[in-house]
Amino acid sequence: MTDDASIYYDEDAQRSQIEDKTVAVLGYGSQGHAHAQNLADSGIDVRVGLKEGSSSREAAREDGLEVGTPKEVAAGADIVSVLVPDTIQPAVYEQIEEELEPGNTLQFAHGFNIHYNQIKPPEDVDVTMIAPKTPGHLLRRNYENDEGTPALLAVYQDATGEAKEEALAYGQAIGCTRAGVVETTFREETETDLFGEQAVLCGGIASLIKQGYETLVDAGYSPQMAYFECLNEMKLIVDLMYEDGLGGMWDSVSDTAEYGGLTQGDVVIDDHARENMEQVLEAVQDGTFAREWIAENQAGRPSYTQLRQAEKDHEIEAVGAELRALFAWAEEETEDEQEKVT
Ligand code: NAD
Ligand code: MG
Ligand code: MG
Ligand code: MG
Ligand code: MG
Repeated sequence: MTDDASIYYDEDAQRSQIEDKTVAVLGYGSQGHAHAQNLADSGIDVRVGLKEGSSSREAAREDGLEVGTPKEVAAGADIVSVLVPDTIQPAVYEQIEEELEPGNTLQFAHGFNIHYNQIKPPEDVDVTMIAPKTPGHLLRRNYENDEGTPALLAVYQDATGEAKEEALAYGQAIGCTRAGVVETTFREETETDLFGEQAVLCGGIASLIKQGYETLVDAGYSPQMAYFECLNEMKLIVDLMYEDGLGGMWDSVSDTAEYGGLTQGDVVIDDHARENMEQVLEAVQDGTFAREWIAENQAGRPSYTQLRQAEKDHEIEAVGAELRALFAWAEEETEDEQEKVT
């Protein structure tokens, strides 16, 4: 695992590592549309791979890109960028596997399938990752505005001896070295990504909000007040942290909020919660979570479907929908800022 990460910029990337190569971008969703268009605008020969009948085909063609099946576009490509959903990648990989020639590159934006051996590439291809740290629409918008998007870089397999140099050139072509590309490993990217979304970002925060809401409502306070305090204000607080770290948040809230927060935060998220986090991390590290998720998909997602429904049925959702209607003026901005944690 890397301790202090190396960061690479435009001057560290050589365009010659990619300029004469053909890139097959598989998928035209959030990441796919942005990678494909940024590569094309950087003068790289790009083709988009989508299955017959995919509704994304028309979008890619309208954006001026050549489209074929994943197998067709992989056949002529030096670099195959795998940007279909993670759960679908193994099946799509099967379609393109025999098109990989020695010295080609399999390029990813997340390490799950490589790290957990759901895709097992031949030894004679490079396996790399450029994972932009934003959803695709921001990667595209930043590129068009001559701004950069930070990304992670990792090399899983270096068959050619130039895997990292080529990945850096790919990062440059999609606009990431303008901002900075941080080196990591497939293992570190995958495990920190899963832990983060489970313990803190998606799972942790949703449970914190629900427990806070239920505590207030069960004590007789109005659901509307509980919603405002535990969910609606979350954005204001997170925005402050995003701008200036925890210190920026503590500086901006009242002294009363700061003192109460500093004394009571660790009462709520205590050593027991920390032990639970360590268990969550262990299940990520030893592959328990990955096996469970793969089996859940193979079984047609029975628990996932139930859990989704239960979350939709939580009272806070109905209360929130009513109250958010009062904030209709904020809708446009929120939609624009929407980001997807993947
Ligand atoms: P997405 O769900 O937005 O897009 C999926 C695309 O794949 C769509 O164009 C769809 O038409 C296509 N597709 C679906 N099934 C297919 C099939 N059988 N054959 C061919 N194409 C098919 O996906 P995404 O969020 O862009 O994720 C792509 C990769 O990028 C994933 O590895 C993800 O972890 C990673 N990533 C995503 C983000 C993000 O913010 N969305 C950020 C960083 C990394
Ligand atoms: Mg190569
Ligand atoms: Mg308050
Ligand atoms: Mg207050
Ligand atoms: Mg993720």
